[in-house]
Amino acid sequence: MMIYTITLNPAIDRVIHIDGELTRGRNNTVSNTAFDIGGKGTHISVVLSALGQPNIAAGMVGENRKDELIALLREKQVESAFYVVPGQTVRENFVITDDSQKGSYMITHAGPVLKKEDLEGFAKNFIKRCNPGDIVAVAGNPPKTTRPEEYEWVLRKIKETGVQLVVDASGPYLKAAIQAEPDLVKPNQFEFAELMQLEINSIEDCIAAYQKSELSKIPYFIVSFGKDGSLLFYNNLVYKVTPPDVHTVNDTGCGDAFVGGLVYGMSCKHDVRKMLKFATAISASKAMQATSSGFDMKEAGEIEQSVKFEYIEKTGRNCNAI
Ligand code: ATP
Ligand code: MG
Ligand code: MG
Repeated sequence: MMIYTITLNPAIDRVIHIDGELTRGRNNTVSNTAFDIGGKGTHISVVLSALGQPNIAAGMVGENRKDELIALLREKQVESAFYVVPGQTVRENFVITDDSQKGSYMITHAGPVLKKEDLEGFAKNFIKRCNPGDIVAVAGNPPKTTRPEEYEWVLRKIKETGVQLVVDASGPYLKAAIQAEPDLVKPNQFEFAELMQLEINSIEDCIAAYQKSELSKIPYFIVSFGKDGSLLFYNNLVYKVTPPDVHTVNDTGCGDAFVGGLVYGMSCKHDVRKMLKFATAISASKAMQATSSGFDMKEAGEIEQSVKFEYIEKTGRNCNAI
């Protein structure tokens, strides 16, 4: 069994720290520059490698600056096998932090224009690696110039090989992904609301929206609610998973840590209770760290003991803690 993560629009994040508060109209001096890997699939790989689970980060990279990205992944013990897009450059994003404690600025580039033949080349090449029982986690949207139908085609090609397909996408790409019937999908509450074209402000709203949908064909459908945890729709039942209160330093990347934990649980064939509790603990530990993909294994182990996993009646009322 092998785990692959797929990032169709990876990035190199340039993390710049400014002393004091970033201010217009004056010189802002950089006191520190660091580089990090950007792209949701690659973050899942970082989580899996930190858990000691062999995996390969795949997807598409522009030929220019690809070696920098591959080196950053290698620093985090992630092996990669990207399809190289000729003539294109890996995008660089800017993350600007300062001492104001008001959060960071994120400035992103759109990324390369992937031609239809590039996507086809990638898909045809990638599926040669896939064997039934492997897990493929496709995370983060492709560049905006990629049509949702093209993305759906790629997912279908991968699914046809008999792998377990996990998808984390948003907007039109989430909608397209559902058509390809992945095994696990994890929108957050806002992404799910957009998919359903409904307001979702509570667990009851979320369950009602799910019941109106045709999402029961997706074995694991999980909606995440930030610090409030997540709802799992599985086997016609609904479960609510709640992390304990933790001191949140940076919740960026919690979704990726969560999906990484879910993929880990799937690969170990854990039952849903263990899988969700573990993923919830990993992502809560991530929230306590400043970096976008770091977490502490020992801390996660302790947090896991206090994650609540309860069966919920379809009306949304708590029924039974298990
Ligand atoms: P991302 O921005 O990384 O894509 P997301 O919005 O998709 O994240 P969230 O719903 O924010 O995903 O978080 C995923 C999971 O991480 C939650 O279901 C929860 O278990 C955990 N989590 C997120 N934020 C916190 C927090 N502040 N404290 C504890 N756990 C958290
Ligand atoms: Mg969120
Ligand atoms: Mg997310």
